[in-house]
Parts: sequence; structure tokens; C-alpha cells
Amino acid sequence: MFIEPRVGNKNYSARRGWIEVICGSMFSGKTEELIRRLNRAKIAKQCVEIFKPAIDTRYHEVDVVSHNANAIRSTPVKLANDMLLLASGCDVVGIDEAQFFDEALVEVCVRLANNGTRVIIAGLDMDYLGKPFGPMPALMAIAEYVTKVHAVCMSCGDIASYSFRKAASVERIVLGETDTYEARCRHCFQEGMKENQK
Ligand code: ADP
Ligand code: MG
Repeated sequence: MFIEPRVGNKNYSARRGWIEVICGSMFSGKTEELIRRLNRAKIAKQCVEIFKPAIDTRYHEVDVVSHNANAIRSTPVKLANDMLLLASGCDVVGIDEAQFFDEALVEVCVRLANNGTRVIIAGLDMDYLGKPFGPMPALMAIAEYVTKVHAVCMSCGDIASYSFRKAASVERIVLGETDTYEARCRHCFQEGMKENQK
């Protein structure tokens, strides 16, 4: 389990920022883990802001909601740059579904962390083809801490790192749930991809 290096120590004269990334497939518990870390920061009386991309309204317009219905109030933003102004002066910034932002998110996270903010990013590391997703690989490279969480393969029960798309669409972004996607291990993901090509 991830333990914060310095949560809520108000005695530091200079604020120190850093970047954490929580990545994995769909249903792997990224949002759950993000909410856990943000709640702990709130308990430590830190000022916390949570953002998500405005395109992701699957469960709720403003809340960040996990698949087991944990929720936390968030601000939907269209562009990564919008976060700079909205988050100014905050101790901790959480960002969910980070893969949907463009590459500008990387620079935004660096600026926030350099200015003393703890930035916690949750997002899909791979798309439905198993390819690195949007700004996630760059964020993982620049982060101080990277946590990869895993789901359970819906075909065989093994550890799952892939988000398998059941519906036949070639759009990179198709918002969906268990009707559209399922978590799969490497083997069952490959089997499914072969099956889809038939
Ligand atoms: P993520 O943000 O990574 O998509 P969430 O944090 O929203 O994941 O949800 C994780 C929860 O999803 C788990 O605690 C569990 O209740 C549920 N879940 C549904 N399908 C699976 C699966 N295949 N493997 C693991 N957890 C699953
Ligand atoms: Mg999530």
C-alpha cells in the first residue's frame, strides 16, 4: 500500500511538491485508490482540489465515482491548462481519467509540483488495443511515485492489465462500462483480439 512521504506536515517552512501516478486497466481500482489518498489528505486538513476531463460524465457530472460507488466532489475541466488557475494555492491536486487530457497535462503537472503542490494522477496506462494512452507514459516517466494496480481477468480470474473492448468500434475513446469493456490478462486479451479480427 502506498504511504505518503509527507502528508499534512504543516511545519515545513517551504512547501514541497511531487507527482504520483496511479495506473492500470479499467476496474483495477485506480479511482478507489485516488479517493483513498485524497480523503487522507483531507483528514490531514490539506486543501484538496479534484479534477476530471469534462468529456467523462459516465456516472456523474461533477463527482469522481469509482465502480464500487465511492465518490468525491470534483471540477470537470475542458483543458489541462484550466487547472493551473483553479488549483492555485492548493496543497493537493487529484486528477482522474488523466488519459483523456492532451499532452499539455504533463507541463501543467510539472508546474503545479514545482510550485509546491502534491499532484496525484489516476489514468488508464493502455487503450483498448494495448497501446500507451495519451499523456500517461510521459506522466509515468516524470512522476516520483508510480503505482500500477491490477484488475481480475473476467475470462480466467488471473491478474488483469488490459481493458478489452467487447463492442466493435475503432474509435479510441468510447466511454463505456461492463457492457463495453472487461478487464483481461495478457493471454485472454490476445485471444479476444484474435476473435475480434475474425
Ligand atoms: P478504475 O478506476 O480502475 O476503473 P474503480 O476504482 O472505479 O476502478 O473500481 C474498482 C472496483 O471495481 C473494485 O473494487 C471492484 O468492486 C469492481 N470491479 C468490477 N470488475 C472488476 C474486475 N474485473 N476486477 C477487479 N475489480 C472489479
Ligand atoms: Mg476510474
